[in-house]
Amino acid sequence: MEKNQQFQVKITDYSSEGLGIGKTEGQFVWFIKDTVIGDEVIAAATKVKKHYGFARLVKLVTPSPARETPACPIARQCGGCQLQQMRYPAQLHFKQEKVYNNLLRIGEVPQALLDEVFQLIVGMESPFRYRNKAQYPIRRDKSGKIIAGFYAGRTHDVIACDDCLLGVEENKAILEAIVTWMEDYSIDPYDEKSGEGLVRHVLCRKGFRSGQHMVCLVINGTSLPHQEALVEKLCGHGGQTGAAAELRSVDSADTVENGENASDGRAAYVDRAAKDSGECPHVDSLSFSVNMENTNVIMGTKIVHLYGPGYIEDSIGEVRFRISPLSFYQVNPVQTEEMYGAALEFADLQGTENVWDLYCGIGTISLFLSQKAKQVYGVEIIPEAIEDARQNAALNGITNAEFYVGAAEEVLPAWYEVHQDERIDVICVDPPRKGCDEKALNTIVQMAPEKLVYVSCDSATLARDVKYLRAAGYELRHVCPVDNFPETVHVETVVLMSRVSNEPRADRA
Ligand code: SAH
Repeated sequence: MEKNQQFQVKITDYSSEGLGIGKTEGQFVWFIKDTVIGDEVIAAATKVKKHYGFARLVKLVTPSPARETPACPIARQCGGCQLQQMRYPAQLHFKQEKVYNNLLRIGEVPQALLDEVFQLIVGMESPFRYRNKAQYPIRRDKSGKIIAGFYAGRTHDVIACDDCLLGVEENKAILEAIVTWMEDYSIDPYDEKSGEGLVRHVLCRKGFRSGQHMVCLVINGTSLPHQEALVEKLCGHGGQTGAAAELRSVDSADTVENGENASDGRAAYVDRAAKDSGECPHVDSLSFSVNMENTNVIMGTKIVHLYGPGYIEDSIGEVRFRISPLSFYQVNPVQTEEMYGAALEFADLQGTENVWDLYCGIGTISLFLSQKAKQVYGVEIIPEAIEDARQNAALNGITNAEFYVGAAEEVLPAWYEVHQDERIDVICVDPPRKGCDEKALNTIVQMAPEKLVYVSCDSATLARDVKYLRAAGYELRHVCPVDNFPETVHVETVVLMSRVSNEPRADRA
């Protein structure tokens, strides 16, 4: 096959980047953008390698029954949502199959066992408007107009779009207010080529439970001209920090009550999302971040607060979190609650357990579990995240969670060496895509907890680790995929494994 040559193929799978996959002559694998599983297409080769190639969609011969018109007008150019042409039930089916097949093939889990422990994927009621965080680049378009938008897939061209359908509706009004302020005061957007201009990005965050909004302008400078006018516009006050903001800060009782009184947690979220009026909401925390580097990194490290206490609050389950512009925080709070709810259910804590939470981030899972455990230990490699974890523990009056900075594969073995006699009942892991380091897995096996809860964002590495753990005396008990990122190819999975032997570990008897 040569470049530009056309051929007909049926799409049967997706790559991890969301390209449709079809095979010709049984063997040769084609990656074809903008196709959906079930499509019969004519495609033209764009790049041909020995065993695989890339092609572009020329014509849909028979569209897949799973196809639908993307809700977002720029879905195809933006590339942030890889699955918008696919109906939501089909997206869920695809993700569920992906997790199942990885556990079967890579994990070598016997099919009968897998069928017994595999639960239906937890999807969302509505697959849009779930993200609590959005980062919009601000640029000038060819006609000279200031626009907020998104990078066209893998390029540095910004396509105008101030209403990403994954984000909250209020972002649009916030962006409009900022662009108007820039126009009124002749403030230039950043120009990547010349390195000139001031405003690079706008970061918007919303606490879904608290209803609070945070805005942070990323600027190519160290001060913001006409900042009082911006504060007035977004925050409706003369720029005092502190007192006014404190009044609006969420009362903890209120937050918890909202969650508990609603018939279920979801109702409280949905209700708040529906309240949007199209007007610019009151912004509870306004700041700017200095980024004068010629880099792809969005946020600068220096933050200057213009209004509010420097953070907003939100809660997952009954745990409150303080979120500042640089904090890591799960982007889909509704599904995160589902995911950590499953983790908590699987751990089945009675109040007497000692628990480790590896790769703990800002301590979300640790603090969730600490309410039902005797003692929780968390470890995370990023020091700032551990600072947040400790602060969040204090904010919630949690005293039975202790946090360590470092690599899980170093901190855990070192801890175990001096605490050989301490019983660990449950170990929870939530590693990045590459999965757990073998040294960490090895130490986990030596520590011999009764239960292992594995939260995974990549089912291929999950399957690899499940294989290791099954060979080392753990059995798969539950597998629960959760759709944390509808419209994208990503899927999370919560797994319970437990020790097969009921006998106490020999050296502890
Ligand atoms: N459960 C966490 C998020 C986990 S994401 C939360 O909800 O906040 C995975 C985390 O693992 C990231 O925070 C990343 O910084 C951390 N990490 C990556 N490699 C690590 C390692 N070797 N040891 C410990 N933490 C690591």
